[in-house]
Order: sequence, then structure tokens, then C-alpha cells
Amino acid sequence: MQSRTTADGEALYSPIQQDQHYLTCLQCGNSVPLDFCPLQEMEKQLRRSQAFTIYYHTLEFFGVCEPCTQSVD
Ligand SMILES: [Zn+2]
Ligand SMILES: [Zn+2]
Repeated sequence: MQSRTTADGEALYSPIQQDQHYLTCLQCGNSVPLDFCPLQEMEKQLRRSQAFTIYYHTLEFFGVCEPCTQSVD
């Protein structure tokens, strides 16, 4: 069970996690969450075409963040 807290301090208990999308820097390990979902159409198609109930997904892009790009020697 996951425990989450909403903006007004109310605790939510749900077995279903939220989708998570991140940009992760390979240099410093910093992860920046994305606040939009680029996969909603794909998830709709999967729901239709696959015998599988999708609860959530995670998506992570790996690369180098802006500060690390500038600090490369
Ligand atoms: Zn970095
Ligand atoms: Zn998503």
C-alpha cells in the first residue's frame, strides 16, 4: 500500500500508484519529474489491444542536465 499526502494534508491510501515520468542525469543522478504524460495515447491503445489491466507506468529519460553539461571539462 502506498501512502500519499495531498496538498491540503489529507493522507491517501491507494494500491494504485501514479504514473511517473523523469529526466535523470547520469552525471549527478538528479531526477526531474515531468508534469505531463507523453504516453496517454499509447496507454489507450494498449488497453484496447492487450488482455492486460494497466494501473500505472513509469518513464525515465537518461542524459545529462544543464549544470552538468556546463561543468564538463
Ligand atoms: Zn546533472
Ligand atoms: Zn504517463
